[in-house]
Amino acid sequence: MKAAVVRALGAPLVIEERPDPEPGPGQVRIRVEASGLCHTDIHAARGDWPVKPTPPFVPGHEGVGIVEKLGDGVTRLSLGQRVAVPWLGWACGHCDHCLSGWETLCERQINTGYGCDGGHAEKMLAAADFAQPVPEGITPADAAPLTCAGVTTYKALKVAGVGPTDLVAISGVGGLGHLAVQYAKIAGATVAAIDVTDDKLALARALGADLLIDARKEDPAEVLKRHGGAHAAIALAVNEQAFAAAYGGLRRGGTLVMVALPAGGTIQVPIFDTVLNGTSVIGSIVGTRQDLAEVFALHAAGRTRVVRETRPLATVNESITDILDGQVTARVVFEM
Ligand code: NAD
Ligand code: ZN
Ligand code: ZN
Repeated sequence: MKAAVVRALGAPLVIEERPDPEPGPGQVRIRVEASGLCHTDIHAARGDWPVKPTPPFVPGHEGVGIVEKLGDGVTRLSLGQRVAVPWLGWACGHCDHCLSGWETLCERQINTGYGCDGGHAEKMLAAADFAQPVPEGITPADAAPLTCAGVTTYKALKVAGVGPTDLVAISGVGGLGHLAVQYAKIAGATVAAIDVTDDKLALARALGADLLIDARKEDPAEVLKRHGGAHAAIALAVNEQAFAAAYGGLRRGGTLVMVALPAGGTIQVPIFDTVLNGTSVIGSIVGTRQDLAEVFALHAAGRTRVVRETRPLATVNESITDILDGQVTARVVFEM
């Protein structure tokens, strides 16, 4: 089978021929149909974050495909079933976090395409308990971006507690942001979309955004404040200044949800303003299996649209360049 492999952090990926992986107890082998390229894969391949993956590894945590082999003891999935393999590849199921509905905070979790090989390959392994069945009627190429970009932004809006009278700022309308705009609309909010490319702003408009803010031309904080300030701002742009602008655009009592993970990123949060304005700043990491099931149900019901372009796996390095250059309409999905 072919796989896109990170041989060294910061080096281009290499398409390698590898033997099919053998599922261990509790695992399944999947014939991958589609695998979305998340910006996280770029951070992984470059070693951008404090906790680094160990090469060689196969990135990808939006892998979707057909179960073709069952390891010992697997009863939850069956051969021929379509599943998606998210970032949360495995969690212990026993700790405080797992037991309280926060399996995404499990200290023992294993992350797909980071702590184990991921979806940018013709075959992959997954823990049967964490591979999410894909409902009938969702194509593999649509299911892929929902598996990370979808569940992550759906969860971010949940933790922000967004409601129908809220102004919600979506900062960055890329792979994650184009779905965030839609979940915010589904929650009934008025949506301000912020980006730095014409295409992304046009996409946000097409997906229902009410207010477009071009961060190259105007200060998003000022524009948001002119509209009364945002109840919630979801920071999805891989850019520290965009976080600061999103914070600056909050109304009193507003919430900044940090989702993007720029290398070495920090922001200065003024204590006085945060206290007097009752501002919340929270981090949000992907979503649970239940969140992903909800994301799939919304899509199966025709309530979301996945905007993506499909490409062969061999384009992995140029696709990364295109994402960094802002040349991709929302998401690249590799079709195997
Ligand atoms: P992407 O590259 O597809 O999208 C980023 C968008 O931000 C682009 O549309 C870009 O034009 C826009 N942008 C760039 N500079 C901007 C600025 N100054 N202001 C406004 N917009 C700007 O990336 P993605 O796949 O959507 O991922 C975004 C980030 O989220 C990455 O850092 C990724 O690692 C992270 N992520 C986090 C989680 C989580 O669970 N917290 C999950 C998935 C991805
Ligand atoms: Zn991701
Ligand atoms: Zn746990």
